[in-house]
Amino acid sequence: MNRPPPDASDRLAAAFRGSDLGPIAQKILSGERLSFEDGVRLFESRDFLGLGRLANHVRERRHGNAAFYNVNRYLNPTNLCWVDCALCAWAKKVNEPGGYELAIDECVEEAGRGYSEAVTEFHIVGGLHPTWPYEYYTGLLRALKDRFPGVHLKAFTMVELDWIAHVGRRQVADAIRDLREAGMDSCPGGGAEIFERRVRDVICRNKISGERWLEIARECHAQGVRTNATMLYGHVETIEDRVDHLLRLRELQDETSGFTGLIPLAFHPENTPLSYLPATSGQLDLRVIAVSRLLLDNFPHVKAYWIQIGTKLAQVALFFGADDLVGTVVDETITHAAGATTASGMSRTEFESLIRESGREPFERDAEYRRVVRGPGSSPVPREPSPGVSVSV
Ligand code: SF4
Repeated sequence: MNRPPPDASDRLAAAFRGSDLGPIAQKILSGERLSFEDGVRLFESRDFLGLGRLANHVRERRHGNAAFYNVNRYLNPTNLCWVDCALCAWAKKVNEPGGYELAIDECVEEAGRGYSEAVTEFHIVGGLHPTWPYEYYTGLLRALKDRFPGVHLKAFTMVELDWIAHVGRRQVADAIRDLREAGMDSCPGGGAEIFERRVRDVICRNKISGERWLEIARECHAQGVRTNATMLYGHVETIEDRVDHLLRLRELQDETSGFTGLIPLAFHPENTPLSYLPATSGQLDLRVIAVSRLLLDNFPHVKAYWIQIGTKLAQVALFFGADDLVGTVVDETITHAAGATTASGMSRTEFESLIRESGREPFERDAEYRRVVRGPGSSPVPREPSPGVSVSV
């Protein structure tokens, strides 16, 4: 794995003489934590390539030339949801055309359809179904674990956990305990959006607050359930809202170390009530990834979600701070409902070529960032740790 040579820091410091990022570059090179004001300055900087260079320096210091991905499959048990977020093009109301709900056995069957490449992780998220009982959620996890005992279940966002606890008339801590016992191994990071209330009032008025999202993540981490975090950008938020969001995540990570990584999510306005807003630019997509890498000094991974920003930009993002392209996915529907034009999944071979073409070295990981070694027929065989690759904070 190629790591920056010892004098890379000196060369980097010299490169920032005269740049508006000079003082921040000094802080980064000396390991000093960046402030709120630094975050705003990074978003406003005219030195876009300098920003990328700094983020790349931090990314390579942590992970060398490795670019992580996993072979996962998305499962969306239902798109019925009562919440009615303005940001969402995917959810349907009961009896609305296009709505669906999968019984537990149908969901298990659906999971089996994407199993041809021996996925190592099911990524399970859905709408907040208005009438499903608590037992649906525990039953689904048990049925999946029974049929696919070796597959990691990354299930239910903080928003869903809040709802599942509500329908079960339980404290969220008790619901998390039950779901863990039923097979939930970790949680996806969706629903964080932007924590600031003023923004949530526009994009997701009925969703849990940012404070509640963080409280549930804290509880997951306390119970040993690791989670991802997300930030949805490119709608009505300000630069300050983004920096506030990232720093609130950093603060919780200081306390728990329970976040695996951040996935910045580019807002796709098509087919939503916010369709008058423009889509994000490539420049903003890369800037958000780079700033996230620099501010989140305690997050092991910053990911580039190729489904949303496209494969070409995702390749560039691997040099702007991102170290992980998320996964092969298989059958993404949520971002595609909002106009994404990318494929809804990719094979492992295609994924590896994409990474190699970018100049990085593919590293197939499982959900816990252990290297996946494939035997004949592409089945995963017992994993080995990832030598030389830092996944700690
Ligand atoms: S974003 Fe989630 S909570 Fe909001 S309407 Fe869509 S599915 Fe429901």
